[in-house]
Amino acid sequence: MADIFQLFNAINVWKQGDQRAPHKPLLILYALGRWQRGLTDVTFLEAEPQLTELLQRFGPKRRSDHPEQPFWRLQKDKVWFVRTPAPLPLKTGDDIPKVGALRSPDVVAGFTQDVREALTSNRHLAAGIAASILAEHFPESYHEDLLDAVGLVLEPSPVQQRKRDPNFRHRVLKAYEYRCAVCGFDVRLGSVSIALDAAHIRWHQAGGPDTEINGLALCVLHHKVFDLGAFTVSDGVVLVSDQANGTTGFAESLMAYHGKMIRPPQHPDWMPEPKHLEWHGREVFKGDARHRG
Ligand SMILES: [Zn+2]
Repeated sequence: MADIFQLFNAINVWKQGDQRAPHKPLLILYALGRWQRGLTDVTFLEAEPQLTELLQRFGPKRRSDHPEQPFWRLQKDKVWFVRTPAPLPLKTGDDIPKVGALRSPDVVAGFTQDVREALTSNRHLAAGIAASILAEHFPESYHEDLLDAVGLVLEPSPVQQRKRDPNFRHRVLKAYEYRCAVCGFDVRLGSVSIALDAAHIRWHQAGGPDTEINGLALCVLHHKVFDLGAFTVSDGVVLVSDQANGTTGFAESLMAYHGKMIRPPQHPDWMPEPKHLEWHGREVFKGDARHRG
């Protein structure tokens, strides 16, 4: 069993510098969700629209999404197979088949026999693998939405979380004087701040450090929509995505701050590091910034 868990932990996630590459993690979560519902094999035809949606919702913005890449390349990690009726024509200059060829109803994929046996004999394994992938690749604010999107249920599982500096929260909230850097929210219950988080600008999962210059004090609403890419901060200015829209809530909670400076930390040395903000703008922020009139 430990061996199978190791295989998943060792999965080679394609990375170029610090770019996010959530393709394989999302395919595995998708397949684990299906497994929990008793579904084993899947055709590319069926998986393609669902993987595309997952990539658009939870991946970085890219010119195009390529669900065929994890669908084909996960085979190399020995946890996944793709069965084709005959050798498929390859994309020019690439080692993966043409997307059109993958769309044949006879192209079927799923977990390998070893993985299936392990998942069958240990009913906690699917949730354990999923929890480990979530912790490794996505901030906590994504977990519930992702689990809902792929229909996965996580039972409590003893997954080792990567160590974080327990003082990060305290240092960031102190730097911003216990107020949301966007809206100034600072509700207390007695003397205790509530619904206020220390958000990482560059995610912990992407190597973001636990320091003030990589943190923002944000209320739970602004933390969530920041992590999901509805707004970013550039040069200290809040920029709302052109993909974000709505009426109630949108105008007063987002657009009201578009183009405005964040509330700065109490010491200039703690201003967000431009490199980390740039990472957020590139890897998390969705779409482009709205027009600043
Ligand atoms: Zn706020």
